[in-house]
Formats: sequence, structure tokens, C-alpha cells
Amino acid sequence: MADAELRGVVALDGPSGTGKSTVARKLAAALSASYLDTGAMYRAVTLAVLRAGIELADEAAVAAQAAASLPVMGTDPELPTVVLGGEDVSREIRGPEVTGAVSAVSAVARVRELLVEEQRRIIREALAAPGGVVVEGRDIGTVVARDAELKVYLTASSEARARRRSDQDVAAGRSADLARTHADVQRRDAFDSGRAVSPLRMAEDAVELDTTELDVAGVLARLGSMVRARGLAAGVEPTR
Ligand code: C5P
Repeated sequence: MADAELRGVVALDGPSGTGKSTVARKLAAALSASYLDTGAMYRAVTLAVLRAGIELADEAAVAAQAAASLPVMGTDPELPTVVLGGEDVSREIRGPEVTGAVSAVSAVARVRELLVEEQRRIIREALAAPGGVVVEGRDIGTVVARDAELKVYLTASSEARARRRSDQDVAAGRSADLARTHADVQRRDAFDSGRAVSPLRMAEDAVELDTTELDVAGVLARLGSMVRARGLAAGVEPTR
């Protein structure tokens, strides 16, 4: 698949720890496509809110801060960057302070409006260049890109997801505590699924892919088959 080129939008949604980011980047790289991590955008805005010392319950102030600090997203899957006010915050947005606050910030309707508009702009820009775009998040298939050519909803058991998150923390040199990560994953899922605006849910026309028993190569193989089957890899005949 390395020399195939993606046509259109692939939307990858699902809760945290399903391997979304890893497979989204690898899929985009294999298909010479752009890559957009929408979770990183909510994280960057959350970092700006925390740095400004704003109360998370003050929705108007949170929204005003979001409007003033939209991150600049690098969409190269080999080196995705998140820049806030000229500073690359790609690492800092993965820390525990942001992780603990991001669900509250992303539940604010005005924050979502602003970021969804920006996400659609980035997608349009990516589609204007050769190659398509792989977009990952929670509401890509249901809200941001409802007409995406392929929508996949990734799931995995909460134990598997906590283990993956914890392994990622260790690999990134952050402290990891499996029990705490498990509780955090469950808390964030409940919050993301229960919020009033754009709750985390599978789009009706999405394909569900359970990654509990699959490694990265296994997930990529399934996604590659779906892309080919729909005729979305230029130069590769559809298989159905
Ligand atoms: O994907 P990641 O875990 O980095 O996302 C962080 C948080 O951002 C999620 O827990 C969710 O609250 C929020 N998010 C969202 N909509 C998206 C992507 C992420 O609400 N499209």
C-alpha cells in the first residue's frame, strides 16, 4: 500500500487508548495523506486555558480563551506538530494536567463550534492538495466530516485501553500508574459519551473495529482492506 494515494477523508473515531493515533498516523503515511489529530487541538486549547488560570466552570472565559488561542496544526503524519502562540506544545499537551481538564473544556459548546470550524478548514485545505486526509477524534464521522468516504469506529476493552495509555506514558518518560490510568480512561469516556454537545458515539454509517486482540499491524491491515475495498487508494481497484 506504500505507493498508493488516498482519495478523500478517512474518519477514525473512538475512545482513548484504542490505538487511534498510532494507526491514523501510519495509515496516513502509507497512503501519502495528510493527518489531523483533533484531540490535540482540544488539548492545546485546554493548555491555554490552564496557563491563563481560568476556572473550568467559567464557560464564557474558556470559550474566549479558545477563540484567542487556536493552535496551528502540522498535518505531516511523519511529524505532526501543535503550535500555540509560536511555541511547539506537542509534548506538554500530553501531560496529566491537560489530560485531567480536557474533557471539561471540550464539553463547552462554543469551544466545539470554533474547533469544528477550524478542523473543517484544515480538511478542505488538505483535500485541495494531492492525497486525502486521515482525521482522528470523537465526532469526525458524526459532526466534523459527515460525508467522509470511510468512517471507522475503533473500540477496545477499557483494560486494554488503560494498558496502552500506560505504556505510552512510560515510553514518553512520564510516570505511569495502571490503576489510575484505568480510572482516568473510564472517567474520560463517561464524560465524553455523556456530554450534551457532540457526545462520543458511533456514526450510523461507520464500521466498528474492535482492536482489543489486534496489534498495530493487524489494525492497519484491516483499515488498508477497507480503503482498498472502497476504491479510495488511487491506482488500486476496489475489491467490492
Ligand atoms: O484523543 P485524545 O485523547 O487526545 O483527546 C483528548 C480529549 O479531547 C478527549 O477526551 C475528548 O474530551 C476531546 N475530544 C473531543 N472531540 C474530538 C477529539 C477529542 O471532544 N474530536
